[in-house]
Amino acid sequence: MSRREPEAISKSDSVVATFTMLAAVLLFANGLEADDPPMLRTQRVTFTDAKSVTRTIESRVLLEAQDGGLLLEGRDGRLWNVTPKQLQKREATEDSFQPLSAEQLGEQLAREVAEFGIKTPTQVVVTKHFVVCSTAGRVYAEWCGSLFERLHDAFQAYWKDAGLELREAEFPLPAIVLKDRTEFADFATKHDRPDAAQAPGYFSEPTNRIILFDLTAGQNSTPAKTAGDIRRKLEASPFNVATMIHEATHQLAFNSGLHTRYADNPRWLTEGMAMFFEVPDLDSRSGWKTIGRVNAPRLKDFRETLRSPRESLPLADLIRSDASFLNADQSRAAYSESWALTFFLLKTRRDDAVAYLKSVQRKPLLIADTPEDRLREFQTTFGELDTLERDWKKFMSRQGK
Ligand SMILES: [Zn+2]
Repeated sequence: MSRREPEAISKSDSVVATFTMLAAVLLFANGLEADDPPMLRTQRVTFTDAKSVTRTIESRVLLEAQDGGLLLEGRDGRLWNVTPKQLQKREATEDSFQPLSAEQLGEQLAREVAEFGIKTPTQVVVTKHFVVCSTAGRVYAEWCGSLFERLHDAFQAYWKDAGLELREAEFPLPAIVLKDRTEFADFATKHDRPDAAQAPGYFSEPTNRIILFDLTAGQNSTPAKTAGDIRRKLEASPFNVATMIHEATHQLAFNSGLHTRYADNPRWLTEGMAMFFEVPDLDSRSGWKTIGRVNAPRLKDFRETLRSPRESLPLADLIRSDASFLNADQSRAAYSESWALTFFLLKTRRDDAVAYLKSVQRKPLLIADTPEDRLREFQTTFGELDTLERDWKKFMSRQGK
C-alpha cells in the first residue's frame, strides 16, 4: 500500500467534527487553557454515546459548558463529548483521577478487540511507555513495542536538543496491531468509520489509540518467527514501516504536549511533524540516525505536485486551512508541502519553529481559529509569506541532490 494514500482518520478531521458537534454547546465554555492542570477528582458519568450505548465511565472533566455539555477524559485516555441530551448522571467522587495502569489498559484493549468481533486471540505486550495489544503474535508485538520505544527516545531527545521541553506521556500509550489488512479493515470500520479501513494505519485522536496491522503478513506465507525475520521482511518495504512510525509520532506528539488533542493544531504542522520523523531507522544497535533526513518519497511528491497545475497548492492556502488534506486533487500536495515546510523550518529556522510550536501549545480546547488567525500567527513568527516562500523553494530545490 502506497504511503501516498491519505490517512482516513485525520486528527484535524476529527477535531473539525468535534467543533461542529460542540461549537454551539461550548460557545460559553469556561475557556480552560490547554495547559491548565486538569481537575483532579474523578467523576463517574453515565451517558448515551454516539452509537446509543449507555456507558458509565470514571473520568476527569476537561471542559464544562454553561448548558452542562462536557468534554471528558477517561482513565484510558479516551475523550468523550457529552451533550446535555446524552448526559444521564454525574457523580463527584473523592478519588483523585488516575490513568489506568499498563496492565489494566492491556486488558481493556483485549476486551475491545473481542467486542468488535475479532476472533483471533490477542496478546498484550507492555513496554516502558506503550501497551501493544495484538492479534499478530507475540514476536511481532514485541518488535512493534521496541520500535515505538526507540522512536520515543529519539523524539524526546530531538526536542530537548531543540530547546523544547516535553512531558512524559501521562497515560500508557495504546497500540492495537491486527494480524492482517482484512482484520484491520474490519476493526477500523467498527472502531471508527468505514473510510478508516482504507488507510494503512491511523492515530485516532478521540481514543488516543494507534491502529495498525502486521505489515509482514501476506508478503511471505511463513509468519516471521524472529525479530531478524521481521526486519528482513520490512527492509523490503520502507514505506510501510514509515506508516507505523508516522502514526506513532502523531501519538507521541499528542501525548507529550507538543500538540494538544482537541485544540486547533494546524494540520500542516501535525502532519509535517509526523513526516519529519517518519524516515525509518531499523538499525536497533544505535540511536535513531535518520531523524531529519530528506524524506525521499515526500520530496518527489513535492516536486511533482508543485509542477502540476491540477495539484499545486499555494502555501498561503495550506497555512490558512486544513481543507486541502480532504480534497482528492490536493491531498498529495498538502502532505508533501507540509513535510517540505516543516523540514525547511526545522533545518533553517529551528528557534522560530520552536517559538511557533509554543504559541500553538497555548491554544484553548475546542476553539477553532479563523483562516486569518492562522496566517497572522504564522507570519508573526516567520515573517512575510512571500519572502519565506522564495527562501523555502530555493532551499528545497537544493535537497536530494
Ligand atoms: Zn498523519
